[in-house]
Amino acid sequence: MSGDPQTEYIDALIDLHRGIERKGPGDNAFSLNILSNLPTLPPHPQIADLGCGSGAGALLLAEYYQSPVMAVDFALGFIDELKIRAKQCELEHLIKPIHGDMAKLDWADGSIDLLWSEGAAYNLGFEQALTIWRSLLTNTGIAVISEMSWFADHVPEPAALYWQNAYPMIANEAENSDRAHRSGFKVISTHRLPSQAWWKNYYEPLSKQMRQAEISPVIQLVIDEIEEEMNLFERFSDIYGYTFYVLQVRQ
Ligand code: SAM
Repeated sequence: MSGDPQTEYIDALIDLHRGIERKGPGDNAFSLNILSNLPTLPPHPQIADLGCGSGAGALLLAEYYQSPVMAVDFALGFIDELKIRAKQCELEHLIKPIHGDMAKLDWADGSIDLLWSEGAAYNLGFEQALTIWRSLLTNTGIAVISEMSWFADHVPEPAALYWQNAYPMIANEAENSDRAHRSGFKVISTHRLPSQAWWKNYYEPLSKQMRQAEISPVIQLVIDEIEEEMNLFERFSDIYGYTFYVLQVRQ
């Protein structure tokens, strides 16, 4: 233990997610449907998954395109899991795990054909992430970014209060599309992740992990917060959720 409460909190959050395939809500069939409708990528595409966790997106992308994928995360434990999973899936030769900060990549401008980021852009703020990542993309580059979004015009008070505290930059799809436009992208399409994907692929495995966790004060704090988040989602999954924004560089 480091003694620093912020570090202890992040370590506890990472611990509770250890071994779970998805570190946030998502679904392979849903992602494959998005991929199957993307514009064709150039031969030998340069692909990146930013905030990759243990590789839910990266492994799918590598298999789908049979091309190398640079997979970036700043949680070393998740990068270690990705290495193991890549080996298990026989995709080791295509996955390039990178332990680093997705906001400070030293890649050449105009070098990426497809940038994927699932459940991670909010850590930088959606518009800030897009602004940083825009220059990495080629002239025809595509970005697929999921972002927590309002689905309804009227937001009930408990949901509004929760998100005001947790992520005050949350916006509806129209506002997020404007943000994408301002950051140098056109919006090709938007896709809402179905609520079943949250439960089946994320909250259920995470709940199991929470039941088995060795409890400490900081682990209990994280569990309480995750349970609050789940209870809110149970009540208001028609009000908010993840939208995947399929974006192309705007000339
Ligand atoms: N995309 C993965 C998935 O869907 O399973 C992980 C999603 S998880 C909700 C968000 C991830 O972003 C975490 O793995 C976290 O470590 C990573 N992350 C947050 N900020 C980051 C940063 N600045 N640089 C790199 N990774 C970051």
